[in-house]
Amino acid sequence: MQELDRMVDYCMDHGANYFDTAYMYVNSESENAIGKSLKRYKREDFILADKSPIYKMKTQSDVRRIFEEQLKKCQVEYFDFYMCHNINKNTVDTYRNVNMYDELIKLKNEGKIKYLGFSFHGTPEILREVVKEHKWDFCQLQINYLDWDVVKAHEQYEIVQAENIPVTVMEPLRGGGLVNLSDKAMEKLKSTYPDTTAAAFGLRWAASRKNVVTVLSGMSNLTQVKENIATFMNYKDMTEEEEKVADEIAKIIQSQGEINCTACKYCMEVCPRSINIPAIFALYNQYKVTNNKMLFKIYYESLADSEKADKCIKCNLCNKNCPQALDIPGLLAKINDEYQKVSTLERK
Ligand code: SF4
Ligand code: SF4
Repeated sequence: MQELDRMVDYCMDHGANYFDTAYMYVNSESENAIGKSLKRYKREDFILADKSPIYKMKTQSDVRRIFEEQLKKCQVEYFDFYMCHNINKNTVDTYRNVNMYDELIKLKNEGKIKYLGFSFHGTPEILREVVKEHKWDFCQLQINYLDWDVVKAHEQYEIVQAENIPVTVMEPLRGGGLVNLSDKAMEKLKSTYPDTTAAAFGLRWAASRKNVVTVLSGMSNLTQVKENIATFMNYKDMTEEEEKVADEIAKIIQSQGEINCTACKYCMEVCPRSINIPAIFALYNQYKVTNNKMLFKIYYESLADSEKADKCIKCNLCNKNCPQALDIPGLLAKINDEYQKVSTLERK
């Protein structure tokens, strides 16, 4: 049995039946994979969420054409939750110009979408406009205790709360960044709550916000599935003391100067030089946390030459795809400079 089937079965056996996919996930293979695995269950027993890739849209007819393609890939007749994927400053014009909402509401009226929403990675100003433009059943926001301030998640959350739009949470653990805490941040957590894990703490923080329908956490193996389900089997909202500790951990992380990359890999889909952007940012973040120059040098040199920062031609294509609005070529140049400084270090 494939690992994915084992993960899905464990979820279904333990009451976790909401599955979230998207057109572009895992090199556009995610929909095929989850569709095949869920095919083993009755349709009414699982909830499937999918997303419309705004970046692929040229005309209104593309919205329906791609939607039908997604139904086929997922082997279903309808989606329970369907979103305009990743509305932000770079995609909002396309989303409007191709009348995405108009086409999707038709699909909803045809019974092919139960709940219509959007996922969002833009500014509060854009969000204020989007929530007023149409009637939405839900929205998906990046909510975790670090981004509450860093990407103004708090402000975004207040905007949708004011419109009574239910929220599904994405990136509750910030692409693993809130699981692999630095020693200092972990010490803070463990000295106060020795029995919790960083993952459980982060998931509970996200789930404790009011009006949250579900918390989505990307999981890549059965062990992670079991851990996350255990967290929610014994679920309790965060206490005020725990909220304070989360604030303190967020401050520790912010002081470390890490890059806010969630490892979504959207940038890599458009990079003409196949630069391994999330891997470079991950090892740079590790360097910022540990301050270990030799480890930074060794890990950086373990990347293939073709995927290193100095191969960037500054075309800026990646910036348009980054949901975190990072200045990727600028950061790559900075990391390359830092690498040049440590490149002559010799192992003792
Ligand atoms: S700016 Fe650099 S990293 Fe970004 S897409 Fe272009 S070559 Fe790739
Ligand atoms: S740099 Fe941006 S687009 Fe690329 S993996 Fe990180 S968050 Fe995603």
